[in-house]
Amino acid sequence: MKRQTIVAANWKMNGSFGLVTEMSQGLADLQLANDVSVVVCPSAPFLAALTDALEHEKASEHISVGAQNVSEFEQGAYTGEISTSMLQACKVQYVILGHSERRSIFKETSTQVAHKVKTALDAGLVPILCIGESEAQRTAEQTETVLAAQLQPVIDEVGIERFSHIVIAYEPVWAIGTGKTASPDMAQATHQFIRKFLADIDKDIAAKTPVLYGGSVNAKNCEALFSQTDIDGGLIGGASLKVDEFKVICSAAK
Ligand code: PGA
Repeated sequence: MKRQTIVAANWKMNGSFGLVTEMSQGLADLQLANDVSVVVCPSAPFLAALTDALEHEKASEHISVGAQNVSEFEQGAYTGEISTSMLQACKVQYVILGHSERRSIFKETSTQVAHKVKTALDAGLVPILCIGESEAQRTAEQTETVLAAQLQPVIDEVGIERFSHIVIAYEPVWAIGTGKTASPDMAQATHQFIRKFLADIDKDIAAKTPVLYGGSVNAKNCEALFSQTDIDGGLIGGASLKVDEFKVICSAAK
């Protein structure tokens, strides 16, 4: 079964209105293989502008807009938070949740991440659920235990069936922003573990859920990573800030 392939740009706390315009114009003529979707996730102040710019460039058919976080609360006295309905007002379709920077710097727990996944799903947004182990955890051979402990609370919270509307992004923490990419074989082995973990609960869901790889993906290594059986595209950080390089990465997705 052919799964959906997704290339998602995670701008993190970078970018500008200038980059919104440049990226939208650059992506307008992007040629994508069948079943490949591209999602651009800028910081919240740029979401509406990106939606407008993509529509203006007639690029909104093949490029979607995603956010980098959402509140687990619906509305009210939560200063600084952004709700699902606010994201929807900006025509956002995806939301990155549980990124390792949010887990480590902002101390988001897997339980909180699971609540956010539920809130996003209930609102009709597609969560891009990030999971990944640290270098110390990989060295201690705890990768599979860590990934299972990050996935299980989400399964418990929303049920396995709703994974048909979830995208998983496997991002080894030691590969994020470091230039150290997991080798295609190593990434494939971990993706295979993730798929088996889901398949042990529900084979059909496991076969359908896209699992993206993230961590120092660039124009040079994307093809080898994307050609692995269980890698269904990527979550791209640093390289997604450069229009030409990001286009090469998008075009490598099959
Ligand atoms: P990177 O970031 O591509 O800069 O390593 C990926 C991510 O954190 O999503």
